[in-house]
Amino acid sequence: MTRFIFITGGVVSSLGKGLASAALGALLQARGYKVRLRKLDPYLNVDPGTMSPYQHGEVYVTDDGAETDLDLGHYERFTGVASRRSDNVTSGQIYQKIIAAERRGDYLGGTVQVIPHVTDAIKNFATARQEDCDFILCEIGGTIGDIECLPFLEAIRQLGNDLRGNALFIHLTLVPYIASAGELKTKPTQHSVKELRGIGIQPDIVMCRSEREIPEADLRKISLFCNVPENAVIPALDVDTIYEVPLSYHARGLDTEVLRIFGIDDAPEPDLRPWQEVVQRIKEPEGEVNIAVVGKYVGLQDAYKSLREALVHGGIANKVKVNIEWIDSEIFESEDAVLHLEGVNGILVPGAFGKRGAEGKIKSITFARERLVPYFGICFGMQMAVVESARNLAGLPDASSTEFEKPCLPLVGLMTAWEHDGGQVTRSASSDMGGTLRLGAYDAHLTEGSQVQKIYGATTISERHRHRYEVNINYVEKLEETGMVFSGMSPDGVLPEIVEIPEHPWFIGVQFHPELKSRPLDPHPLFVSFIKAAVERSRLV
Ligand code: GLN
Repeated sequence: MTRFIFITGGVVSSLGKGLASAALGALLQARGYKVRLRKLDPYLNVDPGTMSPYQHGEVYVTDDGAETDLDLGHYERFTGVASRRSDNVTSGQIYQKIIAAERRGDYLGGTVQVIPHVTDAIKNFATARQEDCDFILCEIGGTIGDIECLPFLEAIRQLGNDLRGNALFIHLTLVPYIASAGELKTKPTQHSVKELRGIGIQPDIVMCRSEREIPEADLRKISLFCNVPENAVIPALDVDTIYEVPLSYHARGLDTEVLRIFGIDDAPEPDLRPWQEVVQRIKEPEGEVNIAVVGKYVGLQDAYKSLREALVHGGIANKVKVNIEWIDSEIFESEDAVLHLEGVNGILVPGAFGKRGAEGKIKSITFARERLVPYFGICFGMQMAVVESARNLAGLPDASSTEFEKPCLPLVGLMTAWEHDGGQVTRSASSDMGGTLRLGAYDAHLTEGSQVQKIYGATTISERHRHRYEVNINYVEKLEETGMVFSGMSPDGVLPEIVEIPEHPWFIGVQFHPELKSRPLDPHPLFVSFIKAAVERSRLV
């Protein structure tokens, strides 16, 4: 029997609903339960795939190739459960399906309406593929009071009824501190819960985000006005690291309360030692390293959410603090600016789309290669590493990517452009944006004895992809003459997946996104190894 937990948010956005959901998932899991987390997004985009990282932060890709909300990244990092396409739905997706069905005539002339057609579709999504889960946690995106949330709230209200006894509602609100009054205020929480009750949802638990300890009297007030028992008012205070959130919520009784409401009285105590260990390593590092992330969307850190966390995980594994310097690659396009990189212990060029800043990234890669600074290129960062070696070592000054340079020597281009051309290297770059993204998990075969094979401890790996362009296999020989090794290839041997420079202390480029699979309790081997190399470098400089 699967139980459902619905999580809504009130007062303001960005309260960390995704994190709260993920942390509760981790707590239930630490008690031995099987959990799955889902996100219901009210916006009208079909998925976040085409949304600007500035608007929406990172696009999180699942094994089965869905482009999803970044909260799914939190879910995976906290629970280790791989998300699937069926774990994220948007209004856009729901309407697209319903309208297609209407056009086909599936409704047999009936009127198609928000209730019941849209709400039924939402209910079906939330309750699909329960498998043997003990708990399914569904986070509703947006904030109570948003017009577009209404069908979702109506759907979960109905589910509360349908699943009577097997569903509970958690509402996350803000208790702000008003400096001029010197007080925390409960009124926004009261109003938000009132709004929710107006829709017909009585929350079972109210979680109160607050930057200060909430006095007993205020907790009692919230309990009274929001109609929830006192021990179901859970203070959710700011903590030093997000990985402390499960511990903090447990200390406040969140998981205990959830189990009590469901009438589960034989639950084992949670084993929180792995989380304690992670938090201790973050809070008491034995050293630190400075990593420069030379990217494009550095103004908004949510754009590189998983990357940032994966670097933290690499630090946890090496017991060091990782200081990340976010650098806009465009600055390296002016003379000698790369010298700013002098003091860093590692350079990482992450994924990106389009031309802006590409030349600056290439300059930073030259710097890393020549100065023997550990270099990690991810997706675009791998493509640019190949272009850099081609231009500066292989004597191919016109080398570039057809993504932004046409015509050019296509070291990187659409796979369709050379897959079928019999290995003929051409100067034409006729490819357009017609290709589709290669999305989701694909295997790669690693060369026995290569650095990456040793790092992974395996010769076949599976990693998640999100790219349209590929390194051109026709240049492999020429590049290998420069000392670059193609140490990971697609199983059919056609698509380069990994390059490395064995003569360099640590120079690895990967076509996939390893950061999507890194977790605090199971850091990704490439990040562990990269940070280790940065630690070694820090001892030299
Ligand atoms: N823009 C490049 C491509 O489409 C790289 C994408 C990425 O870095 N995620 O192949």
